Amino acid sequence: MSSRESSRPVHVRRHSWALTRMRGAGHRNTRPRALVLGVLARADGHLTAEAVHQRATASGSLNPSTVYRALALFERLQIVHTLVIGGRVTYGLADHPHAHTVCDTCARVTALPEGELGDLAGLVRRNLVGFVPAGIIIRGRCATCPPPRHA
Ligand SMILES: [Zn+2]
Ligand SMILES: [Zn+2]
Repeated sequence: MSSRESSRPVHVRRHSWALTRMRGAGHRNTRPRALVLGVLARADGHLTAEAVHQRATASGSLNPSTVYRALALFERLQIVHTLVIGGRVTYGLADHPHAHTVCDTCARVTALPEGELGDLAGLVRRNLVGFVPAGIIIRGRCATCPPPRHA
């Protein structure tokens, strides 16, 4: 990676990775697609389609069905991957294998930064021959959720 490349903010790099991949697969870069990818590139984890739509419309009106179609395309192109949390589908950028933390209380999904999969990925590979880890889920409670009260 050039120094110019590494000096760009992370979300800009992630956004351009996704756009490059989409165009490489022969799909046009439309405004809604760019908006949806921009939202996902800035997210610190996974978002539901509703949340993507909500954030994307902050930069201009967008039809919910357009967001769904864009997300379905990105999933097909493996630009995003999904996690189903509490029955809700959440979407995250699939630019690198990552570990997720999932809050059992509010269902917030955070993706840990690139490279933080380290030991866990090695542990899986050593114990499950041929298994290629693409992501890891760590369940727990996020900082904003109150601890459970014991009667
Ligand atoms: Zn993910
Ligand atoms: Zn929470």
